[in-house]
Amino acid sequence: MFDSVIIGAGVAGCVAARELAEAGREVLVLEQREHIGGNCYDELDEHGILIHKYGPHIFHTREPRAYDYLSRFTKWYAFGHEVVANVHGTLIPVPFNLNTLHMVYDKEKADELEKKLIEAFGMESRVPILKLRQHSDPDIRQIADYVYENIFLHYTMKQWGQTPEEIDPAVTERVPVLISYDNRYFQEPYQGMPLDGYTPMFKAMLDHPGIRVMTGVDARTRLSFEGEQVFFDGKAFEGEVIYTGPLDELFDCRFGRLPYRSLHFDFEYLEQEDYQGHSVVNYTVSEDFTRITEFKYLTGQKAPGTTIVREYPFAYTGAKGEIPYYSIANEENQKLYERYKELLDKIPNVYVLGRLAEYKYYNIDAMVLRALMLTDRLKKS
Ligand SMILES: Cc1cc2nc3c(=O)[nH]c(=O)nc-3n(C[C@H](O)[C@H](O)[C@H](O)COP(=O)(O)OP(=O)(O)OC[C@H]3O[C@@H](n4cnc5c(N)ncnc54)[C@H](O)[C@@H]3O)c2cc1C
Repeated sequence: MFDSVIIGAGVAGCVAARELAEAGREVLVLEQREHIGGNCYDELDEHGILIHKYGPHIFHTREPRAYDYLSRFTKWYAFGHEVVANVHGTLIPVPFNLNTLHMVYDKEKADELEKKLIEAFGMESRVPILKLRQHSDPDIRQIADYVYENIFLHYTMKQWGQTPEEIDPAVTERVPVLISYDNRYFQEPYQGMPLDGYTPMFKAMLDHPGIRVMTGVDARTRLSFEGEQVFFDGKAFEGEVIYTGPLDELFDCRFGRLPYRSLHFDFEYLEQEDYQGHSVVNYTVSEDFTRITEFKYLTGQKAPGTTIVREYPFAYTGAKGEIPYYSIANEENQKLYERYKELLDKIPNVYVLGRLAEYKYYNIDAMVLRALMLTDRLKKS
């Protein structure tokens, strides 16, 4: 009955489904959760506040193709995301930038350090913390030490269970030091939130006569693999299968589990108009949680009460109810991933797509572009 089966209704699965359906395929989307949208899913909580169930998601990109694609399914609430860090009770902008510098040092010292930073790296540059720490000028290393100690070290330990040196450099480079007065967390030209929320955007994307969506279905109960052959409900299936779930789980974790960091979200509704005056406050030197998000500041919603969420990271074990959020990039894990990928590559009509199936961190925009890239290829075949 179907030409294509897509496993997972996150960004990757929804974009792929829409593209294949528009190319004339009959597409079935199987999603194990009771809702679409994957980790970008949002909903009104019992107090009518729009919350992101799996942590705050802000769309940002410099790629017109990703922005234009999503704009077919949503209007935008233009929003320049700003984050502050709570450092011993004082709120300072992060990424650390020239505004932060002037809050941390007295005027004379800050002016002197600012001059040195601009001379060393140039205005508007983005400098990874580990690079700043290796600079030959002791004054620059002094700033680096402040940033390392107060913004990176404890936060990274909480988030990853490892020091900034132990984790993949690409992770710390996501939050560089900015030689600029721009307090925004992301500097890309397009940033904002889907005006009515992410879930309506994905709903519009899946609203196509060629797409059927089944939620609450673990695809492994419908699909099976034997050698190179895929079976759907016990019958040989020759159409394309796009898998966006964890690759190890597709093969019953036979070589061992791929490691991930998970998160526990602790939501709280408060009968007050405002809690923290900011969308996100990172707790970089204290507390067990990494950050508090106050949703109204992300979405622009007006309401007499407010909902916040605290995020507690922990090591994913695969126990029921746990969600694998962040793959842990290192050589050993990559080798394990490659073993699973070798198994998958033996099945010619199954394709991996997404942050889980590819065991790689992707932002929403990158995910849209990868889904378009894969479906562009499949549409030609
Ligand atoms: C806490 C957090 C905050 C983030 N914030 C941002 C942000 O601000 N901006 C940004 O651009 N990106 C952000 N991201 C990244 C963003 O979440 C990802 O880019 C995006 O969700 C990836 O989409 P996906 O479809 O690959 O994965 P997912 O959203 O995880 O979707 C995969 C889907 O597959 C389903 N699935 C898995 N296995 C099966 C199975 N066997 N059968 C059926 N269904 C299955 C899952 O239930 C899930 O719904 C954030 C990520 C996290 C973890």
